[in-house]
Amino acid sequence: MTDQTIDTTTENDRPTWPALVKGFRCRCPKCGEGKILKGYLKVKDSCDTCGQELFHHRADDGPAYLTILLVGHLLAPALHVTYVEWRPEPLTMFLIFAIGCTALSLFLLPRLKGAVVAYQWARRMHGFEKAQ
Ligand SMILES: [Zn+2]
Repeated sequence: MTDQTIDTTTENDRPTWPALVKGFRCRCPKCGEGKILKGYLKVKDSCDTCGQELFHHRADDGPAYLTILLVGHLLAPALHVTYVEWRPEPLTMFLIFAIGCTALSLFLLPRLKGAVVAYQWARRMHGFEKAQ
């Protein structure tokens, strides 16, 4: 029988869920204070508060994909239920869902970008592996 020991020295100093929540709030995944974005979608090179480098991120099309996934899965059933239950005028229904879809997409896109960058930071992906 071999002597198995558990290495307790390797502790995760970047827990994923707290980082995702901070990222979704468009805050730095490390400190949770500094803003992660400048403008609407541009990621800052580094955090203004703690100095964490953020330019390593490779969010690419991930936030847009997640936004489409979420908005589609939220509004498609709502579209079905609205049509079956209330049968509003076609123009009324189009206007409500067009505005709702656009507003929800614009709301979610920067938040999901922050969450994707925070996920990459928490998992030490793409140059985020260095401790700062
Ligand atoms: Zn920070």
